[in-house]
Amino acid sequence: MKNYSVIIIGGGPAGATTGQYLKEKDIDYLIIEKGGSYKDKVCAGGIPCGVMDLMPDNLKNFEKVEYDTLSINYKGILESKVKLNKPFLYGVDRIKFDHYLRKGLNVHYNEKFTGFTEEKNKILVRTDKTTYSAKFLVGAGGVGSRVSILSGLARKKRFSLGEEKEVFQKNITEPTTVKLFLGYNYLGYGWIFPKQDHYSAGSGALQKYFLSSSKGTVEKFDKGKGETKIYPISIWGGEEPLANGRIALAGEAGNLVDPLMGAGIYTAMLSAKLLTRVIENALKNGKSDLQEYNKLLPDELGEELNCALLLSKMFYPFLPLIKNVITSKSTMQQAMESVSSGYILYKTFYRKVQNTKKIPVKIAYFLVRKFAG
Ligand SMILES: Cc1cc2nc3c(=O)[nH]c(=O)nc-3n(C[C@H](O)[C@H](O)[C@H](O)COP(=O)(O)OP(=O)(O)OC[C@H]3O[C@@H](n4cnc5c(N)ncnc54)[C@H](O)[C@@H]3O)c2cc1C
Repeated sequence: MKNYSVIIIGGGPAGATTGQYLKEKDIDYLIIEKGGSYKDKVCAGGIPCGVMDLMPDNLKNFEKVEYDTLSINYKGILESKVKLNKPFLYGVDRIKFDHYLRKGLNVHYNEKFTGFTEEKNKILVRTDKTTYSAKFLVGAGGVGSRVSILSGLARKKRFSLGEEKEVFQKNITEPTTVKLFLGYNYLGYGWIFPKQDHYSAGSGALQKYFLSSSKGTVEKFDKGKGETKIYPISIWGGEEPLANGRIALAGEAGNLVDPLMGAGIYTAMLSAKLLTRVIENALKNGKSDLQEYNKLLPDELGEELNCALLLSKMFYPFLPLIKNVITSKSTMQQAMESVSSGYILYKTFYRKVQNTKKIPVKIAYFLVRKFAG
């Protein structure tokens, strides 16, 4: 039986970034990925420029388009358009990006994790091909993670559904503008991300409203031809431990997806970075558990996601009331500046909301705190 310090289930952004950081620290690991090396992903591929801080040094040169402009359209009317003098978001092709993130890593493709048994000094990890032994197991299998199901970690799930199409076109108009569409579906939004030879158009909403109000939304603002695919997103619903004994979850397997925007690439990579730090410490100090992750995560990411959750409860239901504040140049500019240099913006925005003098925001905040907070 082959033995590793760490076995990672899933080779998406969470699993691949964990692998890259472990490799950097000379910790032996194996990634088990059920798909092939160019696995398809339903994703718009928008990543904040702050992701550069998370990319391992040898991987900063990934293929991307850069966006410096954001427009917001509300029920068919262009409400606001803001251009920065620098990019704030990147657009990537997920198949290529994920492949690039796995560069140089020890990955077993086309192998599926099926289960584990925790023993005193190790964990046995079973796949559809064989059994391995490891000191630690990282669940990074994204939505529906089997490690999450079997371990009971991150059990409370809150789903959104997203629909997405890729429209191939010779001349891409406004190639550096990300377009958001509000007011077309209930408790959700739509988007267009231009890429080099195509654009990604889609929309998403909370699962319970998707079929009744959101499915097909993308056709309301974009008539381009492309196959529309639907995929679930396991968004953040509140804090839960993501480590127990020798097992921990990273990325969407642990519901670490921004509940306001449904974005999970940056948070997957950030959680991978934090988890690697914990694993390194555990191995150095001969520890047999990853409990430290449960302390680190809330400070570094959980609080941000909690604020994003509260803001999402204001943003979508109270959109008609607070639309003018959201689409004001100053709010948009501040959000764009924040993601250009990192991602840590929700705590700051939440504090602004708490201290606002704007009556519509005050009303929305009061109602959310009273009935949904
Ligand atoms: C329509 C749509 C649009 C989106 N747009 C954006 C966006 O613009 N920006 C953004 O940041 N996020 C976006 N997201 C969310 C984003 O795609 C995910 O949150 C992100 O991919 C999570 O990364 P991850 O590594 O945790 O999981 P994943 O990327 O899902 O990777 C998990 C990997 O684990 C593998 N796996 C699963 N089970 C097993 C198993 N049993 N054995 C072996 N391997 C297994 C899978 O094959 C997969 O490769 C979007 C999602 C949707 C649905």
